[in-house]
Amino acid sequence: MVLSLEGRTYVVMGVANKRSIAWGIARSLHAAGARLVFTYAGERFEKEVRALVDTLEDERSLLLPCDVTSDDDIVRCFAQIKEQVGVIHGLAHCIAYANKDDLSGEYMNVSRDGFLLAHNISAYSLTAVAREAKELMTEGGSIVTLTYLGGERVVQNYNIMGVAKAALDASVKYLANDLGKYGIRVNAISAGPIRTLSAKGVSDFNSILKQIEERAPLRRTTTQEEVGDAALFLFSDLSRGITGEIIHVDSGYHILGY
Ligand code: NAD
Repeated sequence: MVLSLEGRTYVVMGVANKRSIAWGIARSLHAAGARLVFTYAGERFEKEVRALVDTLEDERSLLLPCDVTSDDDIVRCFAQIKEQVGVIHGLAHCIAYANKDDLSGEYMNVSRDGFLLAHNISAYSLTAVAREAKELMTEGGSIVTLTYLGGERVVQNYNIMGVAKAALDASVKYLANDLGKYGIRVNAISAGPIRTLSAKGVSDFNSILKQIEERAPLRRTTTQEEVGDAALFLFSDLSRGITGEIIHVDSGYHILGY
């Protein structure tokens, strides 16, 4: 079934390349007729993201830089979106980062700087962008972020990112409570492991994928398209009664207790 998001505008944050989960979400939203605003981390990503966005052949698309470690950048970016687009109806937050050294071995060795960096980019950024996006969601809206099972349970090598995801998951609930009165819903998709640029940073990622194939109820790994379509549902009115929720799109892996 194809949902229609004609006449609506969504901000997609976190496309780095064609493997990015954000790109899967963008494709699902585009197929449903939505207008898209893309934000990327900085100059070094611009060329690749622009080339991808061009493949959509949608002249309504907008592309803006936004480094989420900078409050000025965030404020400037949303001011530009307001100026060029006006109202937005949703935002996909698909952003995370941690030092590679902190994604292997024992969690307890994480440095203070590594801890703060991961939380700054991967958790605080959702709150910072939600605050700005709220001002543009005058007709109500839907915010969707991406999380992972490693925030609920110990996943080997996920370490600091798991702790940051736990903060992100809690942020979803607090933001959902704050923003509900404005007609804005906030939810997370807990995606199964997908081979992306960020995933490459997690030590021994291949064996995590293999485990999913062998043991997840659906006996296969998660695709970008599956996450994109779940996001489409969360951005559409079909999910209008859902907020503060974490939906697992992971072939059912999270239900296993063994
Ligand atoms: P990705 O590397 O394609 O996307 C991560 C994005 O974060 C990149 O676009 C990067 O530019 C952006 N980013 C990093 N620092 C930034 C900053 N300072 N300012 C702005 N943007 C910044 O990888 P992905 O796997 O598509 O990751 C997207 C989200 O999905 C992340 O939150 C990740 O934790 C989550 N996730 C990924 C998986 C997986 O297995 N790939 C599973 C569950 C959840």
